[in-house]
Amino acid sequence: MMIYLNGVFMPVEEAKISVLDRGFIFGDGVYEVIPVYSRKAFRIEEHLRRLQHSLDGIRLANPHGNAEWAELVGQLIERNAGEDQSLYLHITRGVARRDHAFPNPPVAPTVFMMSNPLITPSAELLRSGIACVTAPDNRWLRCDLKSIALLPNVLLRQMAVDAGCAETVLIRSDPVAGGEFMTEGAASNIFAVKNGTLLAPPKDNFVLPGITYDVVLELAAANGIPHEVRRVMKEEVFAADELLLTSSTKEVLAITQLDGKPVGNGKPGAMFARLYALYQDFKRDVMRG
Ligand code: PMP
Repeated sequence: MMIYLNGVFMPVEEAKISVLDRGFIFGDGVYEVIPVYSRKAFRIEEHLRRLQHSLDGIRLANPHGNAEWAELVGQLIERNAGEDQSLYLHITRGVARRDHAFPNPPVAPTVFMMSNPLITPSAELLRSGIACVTAPDNRWLRCDLKSIALLPNVLLRQMAVDAGCAETVLIRSDPVAGGEFMTEGAASNIFAVKNGTLLAPPKDNFVLPGITYDVVLELAAANGIPHEVRRVMKEEVFAADELLLTSSTKEVLAITQLDGKPVGNGKPGAMFARLYALYQDFKRDVMRG
């Protein structure tokens, strides 16, 4: 595997960073995951826009303009095998003596990119759907930033694995925002479906603004699928006809079991079938250019 580190492409075995890197010490950095289909980065402008939002959120200057990023991304794709890849971009506040406050004067950020094989869900998983558990969303209040500090997400995802499930659906309890509502998954966005309407939690500080989430809502709008962007309360999650999970690597998946009980009739539903097909068509059209 060829990676990119601070201006140089190299085999992953040769890559080294300092133990004083603020990513290692504090989790002080942000990242992106960009899917590559047929050797083309999918929705790269949108991913780079979200990267800028994350960098602005942690007050770290973007080390590259979008044209430079696109060039680096193109080179990384070229240097790795596989038609479909999952690109990982990672920027930290660099190497400095340990101190919580930002290094002053600023130091060069650490820029790291790697490519992994993109493994989308199997036909079997698409047919069966996945089982999920719910858990209280105990993360911070800037979930809109794609921070590399993922310990809460790691622990929440492991709860699903320990229960033999695929993902943890997070329920935020916030009296100011109004009661108990669904935010997202530990590493995905979640939609509910009720009486033929797609229900999407708003893109606020409680969720990562998913690129796949946006595509799904655009497809719903373009195809006359009833949809509402609004809070989805905990009771609505458990009473939903369908639950859908989206992410760049999982694309669109049906959640057919929640906390051991069937979602709707326990099978992937009509909304899943429709959106999954639209997503695949959309991907194909975009890749054809
Ligand atoms: N929410 C969280 C917490 C995530 O980590 C991710 C990405 N893995 C998503 C949502 C989905 O975002 P995207 O569609 O851009 O992959």
